[in-house]
Amino acid sequence: MKTDILIVGAGCAGLYAALNLPSQKKITIITKSDVESSDSFLAQGGICMLKDEEDFPGYYEDTLKAGHYENDTKSVEIMIWSSQDVIADLMSYGTNFHRHADGSLDFTREGGHGTHRILFHRDQTGKEITSHLLEEVRHRENITLLEHTTLLDIVEKDNVCYGAVIAHPDETIETVEADYVFLATGGVGGLYRHSTNFRHLTADGLAIALKHGIACKDTNYIQIHPTTFYTDSPKERSFLISESVRGEGAKLYDKHMKRFTDELQPRDLLTKEILKQMEKDGTDFVWEDLRCIPHDELHKHFPNIVEYCKKMGYDPDKECIPVVPAQHYYMGGIKVNHQSGTSMERLYALGETACNGVHGKNRLASNSLLESLVFAKRAAAEVKLQQVPLKKAPELFENFDPTPYEDRDALAKEYANLVQAEITRLNQITKDPVIAEYRR
Ligand SMILES: Cc1cc2nc3c(=O)[nH]c(=O)nc-3n(C[C@H](O)[C@H](O)[C@H](O)COP(=O)(O)OP(=O)(O)OC[C@H]3O[C@@H](n4cnc5c(N)ncnc54)[C@H](O)[C@@H]3O)c2cc1C
Repeated sequence: MKTDILIVGAGCAGLYAALNLPSQKKITIITKSDVESSDSFLAQGGICMLKDEEDFPGYYEDTLKAGHYENDTKSVEIMIWSSQDVIADLMSYGTNFHRHADGSLDFTREGGHGTHRILFHRDQTGKEITSHLLEEVRHRENITLLEHTTLLDIVEKDNVCYGAVIAHPDETIETVEADYVFLATGGVGGLYRHSTNFRHLTADGLAIALKHGIACKDTNYIQIHPTTFYTDSPKERSFLISESVRGEGAKLYDKHMKRFTDELQPRDLLTKEILKQMEKDGTDFVWEDLRCIPHDELHKHFPNIVEYCKKMGYDPDKECIPVVPAQHYYMGGIKVNHQSGTSMERLYALGETACNGVHGKNRLASNSLLESLVFAKRAAAEVKLQQVPLKKAPELFENFDPTPYEDRDALAKEYANLVQAEITRLNQITKDPVIAEYRR
């Protein structure tokens, strides 16, 4: 198979990159699952936008403070200053954000933010954004979308990427020759016992990068979400009780139904407080009280969460719900420059798979959709500018041997081990406690 640009991943990063590439290029997007099974569809809270120039210092400082000042400051500046442009694009595709009665945009607030600067669509902001990106992609004749098609490896020689090895839904294995490959394979949650991520997001892009010696960064920077609905079934994806629920007033209680911490701390600090409290109380969860949010606001802003709690047997209008921390977001990833280029020629990494340092050691809430979109557009812009004729390596494709890829379970295990070993190695060096358990 041949294509001009192969995009691996149909989340917001992969889709938006495709929409920003030249329309005369043949673009192929593959996704391991169906197109709606990406974390981009799950985002509940919202997407940040710089409201006006006066908010720049506050937004910048909140992002750096949450990231423990380990952020790449240029990436942070780029993300914030590009936010209005990206939001305008989203609205041009038909994305709706909540508005006041006078038509002006409404903003909400989440933990770690000094002010209200987050756009939202009920508690389904990610679905609203990504479904419109998807609709737009489906209208473009130059873009082909292949579902249930999995990246198994890249094809490279002398640090230049010439394409990829993929598996089709019927398990046939094939190579794809491409001028550029964009890895947008999402996060690492599928490797963890408790995670809010889709279970098929097993850090494949990162594993392939480690295998080929492509530079990676902050590989052990994992964000744990402090509040997910407690379930004792580890096979299920953990359901997130959005940060903005706490932003709108929900409170956390210990086993005696007493508040024990400030609910609006950054995620990593709050997670530590909750885990400490659970240990002290000898419990598997703490309680979250959504009754502190005015009734109408709770039902209007968080209908999805209310419905889920009821489905699980808890009525949030009448009682507290059990919540527990779970793996949620990956700050580390394949190291990229400000145009999303990796250390390998003609290979780009986008979205949660990539690390441009914007989040530092800890992501500020609602910065990830924005970061994924801003830097996906920059990768597309960079590729658009390339004028140099590209080298071809037909021999890599003619002599391709699929045998090493045929045992898919063994390959998945090899890739999981590569990533977990690297995370563990770095945790030992930095002496960071491992608070999330791997999936067995
Ligand atoms: C429950 C939840 C709530 C969230 N809420 C927010 C929020 O309110 N605001 C915010 O900013 N962020 C939020 N996030 C984070 C945000 O959703 C993600 O960081 C962002 O959507 C990542 O987008 P992406 O395109 O990089 O990856 P994803 O959307 O995860 O897409 C990854 C894609 O890669 C594909 N893929 C993976 N491996 C392979 C392979 N080997 N071969 C082929 N395809 C592959 C997958 O099938 C998928 O299509 C939330 C995340 C979760 C889980």
